[in-house]
Amino acid sequence: MDALLVVDFQNDFCPGGALPVAEGNRIAAAINDLLDSFDLVVGTRDWHPTDHGSFVGVDVDPEKWEGTDPPAIWPVHCVQGTWGAELHPDLDADKLDVLLDKGMDRWSQGYSGFHDSGLEELLREHGVDRVFIAGLTTEYCVKNTVLDARRLGLDVVVVEDAIRPVEVQPGDAERAIAEMKAAGASSARSAEIKKERAAA
Ligand SMILES: [Zn+2]
Repeated sequence: MDALLVVDFQNDFCPGGALPVAEGNRIAAAINDLLDSFDLVVGTRDWHPTDHGSFVGVDVDPEKWEGTDPPAIWPVHCVQGTWGAELHPDLDADKLDVLLDKGMDRWSQGYSGFHDSGLEELLREHGVDRVFIAGLTTEYCVKNTVLDARRLGLDVVVVEDAIRPVEVQPGDAERAIAEMKAAGASSARSAEIKKERAAA
């Protein structure tokens, strides 16, 4: 059983948002084009409290911080209930079967879609053994979701034209893609995936 995961396709990660990714909005067409090809489509949302420890200016007790990156490095983004945390309007969100929130714990970045979201249990319930992963951003939430999926023993296909990087440092995206491949993830373009699934 296959599932499509749409990671954090939210206003704040797109142009006009608080932590925008170049052309983040442009992944909509590739994702929308795939939504009918899967029996299970799961979206995740970064869904932070206002005092989340990843936000610049928030005072974080380093003893309590569980993130892999230092705390307080990101602009305030995806605060629960705000416009920035809403799914991007270009996404055909009616076709998501399930929408899961993550990043509620203020002491961890919550990059991965599997972090405290119930995603693992949901996929197990449906007997999913392969996930196709799209969304934002390549080096953070997409990468960490891919790596966790691999750790759980799932086959992973990254939808390469439906992700976009932040590129804090030039080359970050390339390194993230290499890391995902080294972990055993494969990748394909949305058009190929659609064609293959139609033929199957
Ligand atoms: Zn976040």
